[in-house]
Amino acid sequence: MVGKAGAIFLDRDGVINQNRIDHVKSWDEFEFVPGALESIRALTETGLPIFVVTNQAVINRGLVTVEALNEIHSRMLAEVERAGGHITRVYYCPHDSNEECTCRKPAAGMLLQAAEEYNLDLKQSFLVGDAWTDVAAAVAVQAHGILVLSGRGRWNFVSSWHRFGLDFSAACDLEDAVTMIKESLRGNPMPSTARLRGAFHMGLHPETSLVL
Ligand SMILES: [Mg+2]
Ligand SMILES: [Zn+2]
Repeated sequence: MVGKAGAIFLDRDGVINQNRIDHVKSWDEFEFVPGALESIRALTETGLPIFVVTNQAVINRGLVTVEALNEIHSRMLAEVERAGGHITRVYYCPHDSNEECTCRKPAAGMLLQAAEEYNLDLKQSFLVGDAWTDVAAAVAVQAHGILVLSGRGRWNFVSSWHRFGLDFSAACDLEDAVTMIKESLRGNPMPSTARLRGAFHMGLHPETSLVL
């Protein structure tokens, strides 16, 4: 019997595209994070399927229609393809925080749904996000959570550390996360948060590692 394989889950806002305080409501407002397309191509080359898992409460708050969100995602996927990468599917949670759904991160519903639909082993999977809620979803299913310190990540490191201690890794950005994932797939252990690459972007060389 062939064992289940892992997957790579990517948060969207703050990882693939820049966060906006007023939310991304149209393709015009969608701006790729520098290097994100190249990183997704590199992740595609690992052979693991890539899924986007994104909280989009803007839907149920009435700020963005489902049609507009679908258009943003189809254009995003087209740009990824044009850059030589491939995202298998985008999962989004439309619910607001007061709806108590099982898909809005920190809940792991979107990961569990993907695991069921694509026969994935979540323990061999990775989730890259810029919020403690991303780390929480990964921890809930024993996937490797990687908090990128780009986007809101810098401000989410302390909450993630407070909640999850050494149960996740911290990366400078998606490109750095790609390096970690590739190393892990080669059999090397994931670096814990104790090894902070980029040292919080405090002006140190990106290769600098800090031991806390
Ligand atoms: Mg995010
Ligand atoms: Zn939901």
